Amino acid sequence: MLSAVIDLGSHYLMYFAAVYAATVAIYFATGIGVTLVNRRNPERRIQKDRNGDKRMWVEIRSSMSALAVSAAMLSFGWFAQARGWTIAPLEVSWWSLPLMFAVSMVLYDAWFYWGHRLLHLKMFYRWHAPHHRSVAPTVWSNDSSTAVDTMIEHGYYLVVWFVLPIPALALFAQRLFDQVSGMIGHSGFEYFASPSSRWPSPMICTSFHDLHHSTFRYNYGNFFSLWDRMMGTVHPGYDAMVREFEGEGEPTQGDKTVEGR
Ligand SMILES: [Zn+2]
Ligand SMILES: [Zn+2]
Repeated sequence: MLSAVIDLGSHYLMYFAAVYAATVAIYFATGIGVTLVNRRNPERRIQKDRNGDKRMWVEIRSSMSALAVSAAMLSFGWFAQARGWTIAPLEVSWWSLPLMFAVSMVLYDAWFYWGHRLLHLKMFYRWHAPHHRSVAPTVWSNDSSTAVDTMIEHGYYLVVWFVLPIPALALFAQRLFDQVSGMIGHSGFEYFASPSSRWPSPMICTSFHDLHHSTFRYNYGNFFSLWDRMMGTVHPGYDAMVREFEGEGEPTQGDKTVEGR
């Protein structure tokens, strides 16, 4: 009995190690890549008068533990699915992967919106406050969260395996997209302003979550503005801000080379 438990535990640890190592590698690759691009495009900084870079090492340290919590949940779901403890996933095919990816994007956005609203309630906010210490977020801020914050926002990656017949590959693709887009969304530089990132489109650009950090009470969604628009929590200046970034806005800092997207 004991040896079976040890066996199971060590088997799970391999899943965890694989997911955690991959996540950390993606975190640093994205962080370094985005930092290099930002350095060459200073005119794209969103909060012109603030610079969050000084918090970089604090955020990286806190991200390492938060990503471990996140990886523990994702890898446990994966492990459970591989052992047949969850509902059976669809077979991998040309239609099942994109379909499950899209469904999972929508489901996760709903999970994140409501989990995030919960974290902003008085009784939960103390676990979310450390994430908000970055008023001008940088690419390193995305995962700078407490364990409770991560368990609430990323709990989806543990639960979804049990309720959706999602192939592991589709969920990994969605998690990868979440990691990279989340980091870009915190990077403090705008490259994705376009008509498709403002009303009536449900898509967003970097300014969306940047406004969440600078104003606290708006823009709780993750991938889309859908829930914020429905619940009236979208920042009233967001759409105008996107327009401004779209090209003909007035770039401050004396640079006239804003190209549009
Ligand atoms: Zn928040
Ligand atoms: Zn954030």
